[in-house]
Amino acid sequence: MTQLFRVDEQTCKSSGELGLAMLELIRELYPIGRSITGPGLRATVQRLSKIVPLQITEIPTGTHVFDWTVPDEWWVEEAYVEDVKGRRVIDMRNSSLHIVGYSVSVDTEMTLSELKPHLHSLPAHPDWVPFRTSYYNRNWGFCVAERVLQSLTEGPYRVVIRSHLGAGSLTLAEYVHRGTSDEEVLVFAHDCHPSLANDNLSGLAVAINLAAYVRPRVMRYTYRFVFAPATIGSITWLAVNEPQLHRIKHGLVLCLLGNRGPLRYKETRSGDTAIDRAAWHVLRTEFSSSLRLGFSPWGYDERQFASPGINLPVGAIMRSQSGEYPEYHTSADNLDLLSPESLGESWLACLKIFEALEGNVSYRNLQAKGEPQLGRRGLYRQTGGYYTDVPERQMAFLWLLNQSDGMHSLLDIAQRAQLPFKVIADAATELECVGLLAPA
Ligand code: ZN
Repeated sequence: MTQLFRVDEQTCKSSGELGLAMLELIRELYPIGRSITGPGLRATVQRLSKIVPLQITEIPTGTHVFDWTVPDEWWVEEAYVEDVKGRRVIDMRNSSLHIVGYSVSVDTEMTLSELKPHLHSLPAHPDWVPFRTSYYNRNWGFCVAERVLQSLTEGPYRVVIRSHLGAGSLTLAEYVHRGTSDEEVLVFAHDCHPSLANDNLSGLAVAINLAAYVRPRVMRYTYRFVFAPATIGSITWLAVNEPQLHRIKHGLVLCLLGNRGPLRYKETRSGDTAIDRAAWHVLRTEFSSSLRLGFSPWGYDERQFASPGINLPVGAIMRSQSGEYPEYHTSADNLDLLSPESLGESWLACLKIFEALEGNVSYRNLQAKGEPQLGRRGLYRQTGGYYTDVPERQMAFLWLLNQSDGMHSLLDIAQRAQLPFKVIADAATELECVGLLAPA
């Protein structure tokens, strides 16, 4: 009997509870001041390592990675703006978003007019604090709610940023679950954003829990879960791992998976690879109101995997598009934006995509001359007659027997039959059990 990975009923039911656990993990990770390098990033992957042990690799500052260079490492001890009475009107202790990422050190006094070019706010959303970085231009700044900014007098103010910017390393983390094959499924999530929930903590929570789920299980593919900073992290990971990239047969970038929007699948560069077919078939047939997005060289790290010199079949799963929800890259991307149901459903959808990849094998009909007699084998409805609602299982048997000529995989058949992959896969197992199908 062919033993393939299946997502059972118990797993489907457990996704709600897991969603709550993921929300708790996000609550814990949320306050950490992360960036593309530094202790916040390390603390984040250490916390994830408690769920599934991650292999950590530190890539030194100055390492050339394709057209880029691993930057200096950065972290902040403290950052605040204080008025003459010693009251901190902006303080990084309240939110890691208050400091512009990669700000250099400052300790000076200035008036509000002098300070203003270094302050970032969102007049359209006066209570929200924006997320800003200046990774590759030496600069400094604070992010602040427009309402707070409007309340400030001319000052003067004391402006303090105690940051460290110098040689260090960029942290990559990964977990590899060996399958029976060396061929790999890559799951990538970026981990460089500070206190933002949907972007990127939802992706981290879903990815690490996918790793935890496959860890004790026998899989056909090898699963590689990579946690790295956006852009520079994925580019660094690709450059360091270039000799092994040919093993990656399918991949998914996970991001923006906790909000209440419908699931969206973003195509790979070519749009017609096995991951495109598997992911979209699963979403379309099992997760109502799912959307399919065409490829675009905009978004997250799928862009790096899709660059022409890399060209890996890596799609992306999300519930929003980057930059296209109002709370994106602001303090309003907080835990209120997330729903445990969405997190659980996102996790389940990815598992079902794994199920379709794992089970995408071909069979041969061993009684291919005319339809075999299913009733004699206990596989056909008991009473004959005319039915308008032929059950899915029955249709799955007929499609499988018709299409199993060794040339059509279970995913081909599921697509043609417009039935959930699981229905086709379960029916294939039943037909194999009674000797009507054999692996091609
Ligand atoms: Zn982002």
